[in-house]
Amino acid sequence: MQNVAEIEASPEVQDLRSRVSSFLDELIYPNEKVLDQGGDEARRTLKSIQAKAKERGLWALGLPKEIGGGGLPFMPYVFVNEIVGRSEHAIAGLGTHSAQDATMLHLYASPEQKKRFLAPLVNGDIYPSFSMTEPEVSGADPTGLRTRAVQDGDEWVINGHKWFTSGANVAAFSTVMCVTEPDAPTYDRFSMIIVPTDTPGYEIVRAVPVMGDTRGGHCEIRYNNVRVPLTNLLGSRGQAFKIAQKRLGPGRIYHCMRWLGQAQRAFELMVTRAINRQSFGGPLSDKQTIQNWIADSAAEIQAARLLTLNAAAKVDAGDEARVEISLIKFWGAKVLHDVIDRAIQVHGALGVSEDTPLAKMYRHARFARIYDGPDEVHRMVVSRRIVREFKKGGKWDFGRGLVSKPAN
Ligand SMILES: Cc1cc2nc3c(=O)[nH]c(=O)nc-3n(C[C@H](O)[C@H](O)[C@H](O)COP(=O)(O)OP(=O)(O)OC[C@H]3O[C@@H](n4cnc5c(N)ncnc54)[C@H](O)[C@@H]3O)c2cc1C
Repeated sequence: MQNVAEIEASPEVQDLRSRVSSFLDELIYPNEKVLDQGGDEARRTLKSIQAKAKERGLWALGLPKEIGGGGLPFMPYVFVNEIVGRSEHAIAGLGTHSAQDATMLHLYASPEQKKRFLAPLVNGDIYPSFSMTEPEVSGADPTGLRTRAVQDGDEWVINGHKWFTSGANVAAFSTVMCVTEPDAPTYDRFSMIIVPTDTPGYEIVRAVPVMGDTRGGHCEIRYNNVRVPLTNLLGSRGQAFKIAQKRLGPGRIYHCMRWLGQAQRAFELMVTRAINRQSFGGPLSDKQTIQNWIADSAAEIQAARLLTLNAAAKVDAGDEARVEISLIKFWGAKVLHDVIDRAIQVHGALGVSEDTPLAKMYRHARFARIYDGPDEVHRMVVSRRIVREFKKGGKWDFGRGLVSKPAN
């Protein structure tokens, strides 16, 4: 396994992190309020930020060069995500927002699909959406999904009901996970089909308002006899679970690094406020409780960072790292939540106002405990795999991870 400290200290990574950091200082933070508002001005501002990211060679850094990305290897890109994550708007501004869908299309799309959907996606001309979760059945256990696609001549006919298809209201297409092989074993029953959002029968019922965002962007959709050509199948029939896993795997490492960027920003706001706010005859930073919050937050962020880099190094070495990824998914989300929560408390009423980024960060941190698998499911994965190894005579080694029983 590569030494992650050496990668982080390399001139290439240092230079990129500092260039991305300056980009945020200059173009993202000053525009956050405008971008938060949505509407035409936000769209124009985002476009101009995206153009500057391209000019400066900072666009879609983690995607392969042959599809229009920056071609940065996995580990350096992991470190860049820690800076990108400091502002949600940096994700779209730097062309990172479509990374999961672009990676999925890069791996599984046909040449024709790549031309139509992938090229404009990586270029930032169109947005994707991913349509898996359904209101009627558990999204945590997608084996129960009901949306059906039936072959009729040279077309798929799709019927079903989805929700939380994030960004569908602005997307050019949704990749829909649906049953195509009802009689196959459970994990071979589902396929991915690309549906352009202007296809007749694709009905956005509403953009579901969520806490703190009444406009909403997580769409409820009805697929009413939606017809698309058979060639819109992504990958092979029955491959949806495999494709979904490939879409999510390394993406979870990027998510966790971005959460660390958010947590670090909240931490900096907390410490600065604690130094500058006077109460009971001195600064808040002199009070023991506040000192505990600063110390606990520093320890938790550092621990989550080491866990995340450990998982990243394993993935980079070709390991699936299922336990390590699930560990950081639920632990990283908790650290993110707790650090922002303390930062809000130190800010008092200012913390829940929209005058600092903390209130918005807090709402998003709450989502992080649910999307890409709720905390409880990731804990279940960690525990199940460790217990299974123990039962077979192996163990969980805190240096190496899962270790099988040595062969006699
Ligand atoms: C902000 C946000 C964006 C999202 N974007 C998308 C998107 O773009 N596309 C998409 O398809 N979906 C998206 N989702 C949906 C997300 O994937 C699902 O919410 C998630 O998989 C959980 O499914 P569910 O909401 O149906 O919860 P359920 O499956 O009903 O689970 C509810 C709760 O039950 C508990 N639970 C479930 N299983 C277990 C278990 N084994 N052990 C213990 N407790 C358990 C957990 O506490 C869980 O939170 C998004 C969600 C959010 C919040």
